[in-house]
Amino acid sequence: KSYKISDLLKPRYARVNTLKMDIESALLEFKKQYEVCQDAMVSGLLIFPPRTDLHDHPLVKSGSVFLQGKASSMVAVALGPKPRWEVIDACAAPGNKTVHLAALMKGNGKIIACELNKERVKRLKNTIELAGAINVKVKHEDFFNMSPEDPAYSKVQAILLDPSCSGSGTAVDRLDHLLPSYTADSDLNRLEKLAAFQRKALEHALSFPAVERIVYSTCSINQVENEDVIKSVLPLASSYGFELTTIFPQWPRRGHPIFDGSQHVLRTDLIEDKEGFFIALFVRKGVSPPAKH
Ligand code: SAM
Repeated sequence: KSYKISDLLKPRYARVNTLKMDIESALLEFKKQYEVCQDAMVSGLLIFPPRTDLHDHPLVKSGSVFLQGKASSMVAVALGPKPRWEVIDACAAPGNKTVHLAALMKGNGKIIACELNKERVKRLKNTIELAGAINVKVKHEDFFNMSPEDPAYSKVQAILLDPSCSGSGTAVDRLDHLLPSYTADSDLNRLEKLAAFQRKALEHALSFPAVERIVYSTCSINQVENEDVIKSVLPLASSYGFELTTIFPQWPRRGHPIFDGSQHVLRTDLIEDKEGFFIALFVRKGVSPPAKH
């Protein structure tokens, strides 16, 4: 099968930042100039025709609307934080998902946004300021140095883990990446290192005592960074009382069937959805299920 470059013309998405503007007002404003409709799965996500360029739109400049793709916008929704919760965003910069969490929490509760890279901490702070997200505390820190025993994190109920990944789901400039089985030999070593880091980060997240929900996401299409990572932590997760839980049941593309429960996790497809993402949710047993998406 061969793919044409036109296959890659993806719709443009923009997420209304409900900390600053309500969805109806944003829609009314955009309708003056563009064809626009609402996504059926993510509240406040607006869909525009391919190649619509909103970078300089006043609502984007003012932080009332964020240019964020559909799969990326599904991650915080899958975590489903409640307004008064304490939440860690473990690998936070540039902060798109951090500020989405803040909006879902209606600016209440507390988000601890952790980022290791100094330059990226600046971008994270800019995003948070632009969004008007006042319930976020930025930590320039290695997530592995945040100790689960630290009383400061004893009430953390949810963790969003979106670790560094190969980005193979967003590599639209290289057509060879469109082949699902494609992996250059030179990438293999890098992928293994990334997968080891991703697994260690997920194990660390699982060890926080009060955490009830953990969402894990990548913008990679590689099984080694996705299902393999999830499969490898299942015994540990189960020993802490966590189990995989179905997110967005209406979404057809699920995880590769390499472990029992792979249908709980989801993928987006590089061709069908124009970007490749992976999302999995762990919920600690005995805790009530999330509100329906
Ligand atoms: N969640 C972000 C968003 O939606 O805007 C994107 C996160 S990006 C995929 C991963 C981030 O994790 C990078 O900014 C990277 O610097 C950071 N990172 C990598 N290792 C880390 C660590 N050990 N502790 C904290 N942050 C880390």
